[in-house]
Amino acid sequence: MGAYEMPTLFEKIIAGDLPATIVYRYDRVVAFSDIRPVAPTHILIVPHKVIPTTDDIADEDESLIGHMVIVARDLARQQGIAKSGYRLIINCNPDSGQEVYHLHVHLIGGRPLGPLVQRT
Ligand code: AMP
Repeated sequence: MGAYEMPTLFEKIIAGDLPATIVYRYDRVVAFSDIRPVAPTHILIVPHKVIPTTDDIADEDESLIGHMVIVARDLARQQGIAKSGYRLIINCNPDSGQEVYHLHVHLIGGRPLGPLVQRT
């Protein structure tokens, strides 16, 4: 974990040291609007626990990771996009374009999203 910038932007948001549009605070996760939304709904679901990437997830984190998906499901319903559809994305490491090395799920929807990955 030593190579990553600490604390990350998201730790500062969780601590209240950086402003963000908080959508919901849960015991183990916080959800806030992405600052550069790519669709009408673009929310980041971020665990309080510092886990830089999916590659750093421990077996003991299984319930936390499941919880993040349940939170995404609930937020999608609250946002009114559950039936129209949405995409959950977790980027991992440079080839994915991961910018912030604090695990997060993108909840994206509110318009047709097109293909998952552009063919090269
Ligand atoms: P990723 O590329 O998966 O690491 O996604 C990082 C996301 O964090 C990007 O979609 C950024 O737009 C978003 N982001 C960066 N800084 C902030 C911030 N201060 N508040 C909210 N979202 C942010």
